[in-house]
Amino acid sequence: MSTQQDYDCVVIGAGVQGSCTAYQLVKQNKKTLLLEQFILPHTRGSSHGQTRIIRKAYEQDFYTRMMEECYRQWTQLEKDAGVQLFRQTGLLVMGPENHGDYQLFKDTLQKNKVPTVILTRDNFKQHIPNVILAEGDGALVDVTAGVLFADRALKAVQGQFQKLGGVIRDNERVMEIKPGSVVKVTTSKGVYRARSVVITAGPWTNRLLAHTGFQLPLEVVKINVCYWREKTPGTYDVKQRFPCFLLTEGAETKEHIYGLPSNEYPGLVKICYHMGAKTDPDYRDLQTDKSDIDILKRYVARCMPGLIPEPAVVESCMYTLTPDRHFVLDYHPNYSNIIIGAGFSGHGFKFGPVIGKLLCELSLGEVPSFDLSPFRIGRFQSKTKSAL
Ligand SMILES: Cc1cc2nc3c(=O)[nH]c(=O)nc-3n(C[C@H](O)[C@H](O)[C@H](O)COP(=O)(O)OP(=O)(O)OC[C@H]3O[C@@H](n4cnc5c(N)ncnc54)[C@H](O)[C@@H]3O)c2cc1C
Repeated sequence: MSTQQDYDCVVIGAGVQGSCTAYQLVKQNKKTLLLEQFILPHTRGSSHGQTRIIRKAYEQDFYTRMMEECYRQWTQLEKDAGVQLFRQTGLLVMGPENHGDYQLFKDTLQKNKVPTVILTRDNFKQHIPNVILAEGDGALVDVTAGVLFADRALKAVQGQFQKLGGVIRDNERVMEIKPGSVVKVTTSKGVYRARSVVITAGPWTNRLLAHTGFQLPLEVVKINVCYWREKTPGTYDVKQRFPCFLLTEGAETKEHIYGLPSNEYPGLVKICYHMGAKTDPDYRDLQTDKSDIDILKRYVARCMPGLIPEPAVVESCMYTLTPDRHFVLDYHPNYSNIIIGAGFSGHGFKFGPVIGKLLCELSLGEVPSFDLSPFRIGRFQSKTKSAL
């Protein structure tokens, strides 16, 4: 049976960005509907899994500045929902000294006065005994960083949204978006009308944008989420204060490799390659490329002597990449009441609360609280194409 209902805003996609946006809208007393194609919770998009790294260490100042507010908002959500979402561990950043991304991380941390410890080759072994620092690499620790409990965070934000009267309809796929001064959204179960629509559909963004005659230059890749077994249980455990870490480049690759201490699966350390092979989000597991795992095996064998260099568990997730790896937070180029939050390029979770706030501000026609120029669609210029 079909239903037709009116909302101030319909948010499409209940990953971290859509859920945070919907929460911000309902806090502004807007009648808000959050639509999700799968039954919640699910593991088919980009926001599932128990952990994500949260850090202020970035190559660009604008992310570090946004993180100040993100930390405050995650803490507020912890209080409101009465649940722990963050554990401080620090982030060990390693990479060729005085060079490339490592130097950018160092400069940004210092410029923004983020509490940082620079490790020397002499004291590295003493502080981080089970990691090999390559010849010529520098090492520093962003003290503010740690682990965000992602599944828990998603549940908390969706719960708070519903507590304030927001409506979530899961297992309900958006089939059509009809732009207009009132936008008509048709799903597998009903028809909704809204003053504004926010599209936060992760890897499916271009499928939805096609209904509006527009496409973004997005690439969806599958990430093999690898867990590596400790030879001696506890060596890399969060309780032993082993930090999250990020290698900017190494002998195996020029892409980042990152890891989190053993925590969600006792005895297993999550280490991933910050890139994957192209995939269709509806056929994710048909992508069976394992060249990333081969790179990780070589890295673990070389630098993590306390881990067995063969992943014990491999899970799957997806990144939605933009060409410059910066987000898209903007109005639809042709319809000012359709807002797009997309292309989080494998580093968007930690920003959820601020992205939610910014997308809410755009959908209410307010001045955004941060400079959105790095995130505007116009930067792609000729690379964006009309689908009509
Ligand atoms: C392995 C991995 C590690 C990561 N590590 C980090 C990290 O350490 N730190 C960090 O900050 N970030 C990290 N990220 C990135 C972060 O998780 C993502 O940027 C973020 O989850 C993206 O959220 P999203 O809401 O845009 O997308 P998604 O979570 O994919 O949400 C989009 C939702 O839209 C729904 N949808 C799509 N189409 C429709 C439709 N037609 N109708 C209804 N619903 C629809 C989908 O089902 C989905 O639930 C990582 C990502 C991965 C994969």
